[in-house]
Amino acid sequence: MIKDESVEKMIDESQQGTPLALQHNDKNTRKLYIESYGCQMNFSDSEIVASILSKEGFNTTQLLEEADLVLVNTCSIREKAEQTVRKRLEKFNAVKKINPGMKVGVLGCMAERLKSKFLEEEKIVDMVVGPDAYKDLPNLIQEIDEGRNAVNVILSKDETYGDVAPVRLNSNGVTAFVSITRGCDNMCTFCVVPFTRGRERSRDPQSILEEVNDLWERGFKEVTLLGQNVDSYLWYGGGLKKDFEKASEMQKAISVNFAKLLEMVAEAQPKMRIRFSTSNPQDMTLDVIESMAKYDNICKYIHLPVQSGSNRILKEMNRLHTREEYFELIDNIKKIIPDCAISQDMITGFPTETEEDHQDTLSLMEYVKYDFGFMFAYSERPGTLAERKMEDDVPEETKKRRLSEIIDLQQKHAHFRTQEHLGKVEEVLIEGPSKRSDAHWMGRNSQNTVVIFPKEHYQVGDFVNVKINECTSATLIGEALEYSKNN
Ligand code: SAM
Repeated sequence: MIKDESVEKMIDESQQGTPLALQHNDKNTRKLYIESYGCQMNFSDSEIVASILSKEGFNTTQLLEEADLVLVNTCSIREKAEQTVRKRLEKFNAVKKINPGMKVGVLGCMAERLKSKFLEEEKIVDMVVGPDAYKDLPNLIQEIDEGRNAVNVILSKDETYGDVAPVRLNSNGVTAFVSITRGCDNMCTFCVVPFTRGRERSRDPQSILEEVNDLWERGFKEVTLLGQNVDSYLWYGGGLKKDFEKASEMQKAISVNFAKLLEMVAEAQPKMRIRFSTSNPQDMTLDVIESMAKYDNICKYIHLPVQSGSNRILKEMNRLHTREEYFELIDNIKKIIPDCAISQDMITGFPTETEEDHQDTLSLMEYVKYDFGFMFAYSERPGTLAERKMEDDVPEETKKRRLSEIIDLQQKHAHFRTQEHLGKVEEVLIEGPSKRSDAHWMGRNSQNTVVIFPKEHYQVGDFVNVKINECTSATLIGEALEYSKNN
């Protein structure tokens, strides 16, 4: 995967495993240490967990050694992610020897996948909690306080945590995630998500609007609407997406789809920037692209994972679109929103992938010339359809070589795209100081590209018009001209 300042926000490499902290509450006496791994959804979930636990007497700590409760929010998407968490669990157990009162809990996708292994076979944790069971944490903590192991990995039909106001962990005070759907129904054959996060359900739009309005009141300037497959968002009064067909005529008539939700959020806070992630090509419709074009405050950026450029491999992956349909979607996006940035997720070395399939991936990339990319070697995941039906037959060296070829090409395209910004004046939302220079701010333009410029009198959270003078493949460098009209 390419690691640079501009892509961090998608998978947030910089945050992986850092202990998350929230404001101290004097009334709380117990100490929670919480780490998150994986996708934005996990980071967002940890904010829900911290919110629930702050009402149970916990303050967060960044010192592992002083924690009463250690929680690790886990990711199962690739084997490496699970190995990282396993190493952390070893570390927690070593600390437990010095601080025997400390309890350790595993949250999220690995909890769902490895529940009994952790608790019964390996006995390395006290508590295992799946992604739909966080509201049960107060009871589960009581169980472990009384000396018993605790587990709840029940996946829900309707849990969306719509009624839990998440606290913001390690927040820059400017950008925040708002979760809008949970679970996934797509059943891509490589993917463990439907098994660890359950079936897809959408959150009540009113609770989404309340959260967005509250964030605006508290000074936030940008929200990212989150889900495994946001374009599939569908609210019809609650329940699973797959049960929509059984809904009453009335429920269908008042239902809200993703394009409508986007418009509702954009209109509720016209000065707030709206982003969303992730889009699945098979579910992205023209009305979403038209809604994006209609509202200035919906950012002109779409993360549109394709995974492969080969029709044969797309079919084996159970991605329900062809290469040609994907091109049509890209053409429509560029026609309706000419300055829209597009990024990809790509998997190399999926079972049976040939050199010809790989060349199809490279030629697809050549057509789109993505602004950003997240690229991975295929990692076989237990329980997935690919694991059950296909042999992981592409040698590791071949996977690695193909991966480095697509990373190199992506780097070239990223540079091509950043050069397109040269000489333009673009609105940038300041997120914080640049990592490389204290004298510069770091922010993003609408297309999600990182922009660096001298601080002058501007402040974090300001919208500033910046003239772009230079670029690398990942970063734009410029100078501020004035506040933008959004201030
Ligand atoms: N829901 C999104 C989608 O499929 O379009 C993203 C799901 S996942 C959290 C993020 C990315 O991880 C995927 O888009 C895919 O590229 C990658 N991924 C998922 N399963 C994988 C596997 N078994 N091996 C390698 N990469 C994988």
